Amino acid sequence: MTDCLFCRIIAGEIPASKVFENDRIIAFNDINPQAPMHVLIVPRTHVATLNDLKPDHDALVGEMTRQAAALAAERGYATSGYRTVFNCNRDAGQAVYHIHLHVLGGRPLGWPPG
Ligand code: AMP
Ligand code: ZN
Repeated sequence: MTDCLFCRIIAGEIPASKVFENDRIIAFNDINPQAPMHVLIVPRTHVATLNDLKPDHDALVGEMTRQAAALAAERGYATSGYRTVFNCNRDAGQAVYHIHLHVLGGRPLGWPPG
């Protein structure tokens, strides 16, 4: 039994509102959405932070990014716009130490972020 929340979601031990999955990644709605669309794209393999990525993960991260664009396009946000975010470590507010790509859309998003 792992104590990683996202590994437990991937294992089916904790429910999630899935919007996409394949052999390498899953995507589910954030439990505390910050925009009308707030999806998390998560690799099935456990990588704690962006700092832990290896060259072998390049294709995986590329697939996560491309899937973010596909899900945003499905919701009709391709032209109006959306945001993708990886938080890394304390100053970025990373709360779950299993990398995940936030996909936010459906409202204007301020810049710079808080
Ligand atoms: P981060 O701060 O980048 O680590 O983001 C973690 C995200 O996971 C937050 O936006 C949380 O709302 C979200 N989250 C925490 N627990 C769950 C859960 N059980 N299902 C879906 N999203 C979750
Ligand atoms: Zn994990």
